[in-house]
Amino acid sequence: MGFLDRLLGSKKMFKDTMNGLDMVKVGLMYYLLPECEVNFGKDYSPPLVAAVVNTVFSDPPSNETGRQFILDEDNVKNVMLVIEKSIKPVEKLRQTITDSVRVKCTLSHSKNPKLSERDFIRLCREPIDNLKRLGLLIPGGEMPELSIFLHNAGTFVQACKADLDHHRSQERATSEADYQTYELPLAEKTCLICGKELSEGDATVSTSGCAFPQSHKLWRYCDAPLHLACMETWSDRETFSHAYYVQRHQQFLDESWFILAEEKDWFVGHIPAGLYHSEPGFEDLVEIRIRDWPFVLYGHAEEWTQFFIDGWQKYQPALSGKALHRAREVMSQVMLVLPDTETIVELINKRLRRK
Ligand SMILES: [Zn+2]
Repeated sequence: MGFLDRLLGSKKMFKDTMNGLDMVKVGLMYYLLPECEVNFGKDYSPPLVAAVVNTVFSDPPSNETGRQFILDEDNVKNVMLVIEKSIKPVEKLRQTITDSVRVKCTLSHSKNPKLSERDFIRLCREPIDNLKRLGLLIPGGEMPELSIFLHNAGTFVQACKADLDHHRSQERATSEADYQTYELPLAEKTCLICGKELSEGDATVSTSGCAFPQSHKLWRYCDAPLHLACMETWSDRETFSHAYYVQRHQQFLDESWFILAEEKDWFVGHIPAGLYHSEPGFEDLVEIRIRDWPFVLYGHAEEWTQFFIDGWQKYQPALSGKALHRAREVMSQVMLVLPDTETIVELINKRLRRK
């Protein structure tokens, strides 16, 4: 059964909501990490932050490390300290958490309407009571509408991730280290923009194919690895990128591949199974092309939520500076029109029915 069939089941609502809850939890982790690292150190912070999120959402630890962690009294004290100092004073954060826990409770209930009283209390009331005990509950509110909740969850996790990335990039700037790298093709040793030799660890982008005739002055840049940093100020970047953009866009039209969404300066295309990539796992590959930058963002329709959280950096780990900024900007626009897997699946199915 293909992923399209699987996703058209009746579990859509449930899955959406679970995704939304996960987004809020991940966002909260991103939010807490930098401050915890300052106060508790880098190694201790990830398990601490995970324990904080579990405590806030009344979730049991998901692994043995988590279970051991919370058995230690000092760790529990630190969890409470983080809740007290980093979450409680921020009303907006408490609101997001309260909304999410309300959604979580309603979800548990609607999934098992025949709960025994004891289980009802455990699943539906205890998480709210727990928030109250922690001093985080914003009382009196209704459960938010699902679409609004999902939208807010997406915005929340993106904002938290952006802050964390910003924090990380500042750390990098001060420690002058640790760039993620691309493997360099042996044949290409210099960046043609600055003329300097490429060293391992340089963040570069290269295009695929050639968008210019050999007589064109930009022909020699085709396929060549170019420093991302050099590209920021390269006066030919837009012309160069535009040519690739137009070429790819035309290819989509010529081949009748599906453009899922399109704006003035970006488009999202679905790469059909078997035509372009025949390997398994590529059947739901989606690409985002941007008119003024030559890098491509790849994602899988089936993991669209994760793609928006941080999956889009998987194929482009070295993006930084203005390129990263541009990628984020486009991603936030894409998210508005293609918010989830189901939207993509619906678009594809509608098109298949038309054929
Ligand atoms: Zn360069």
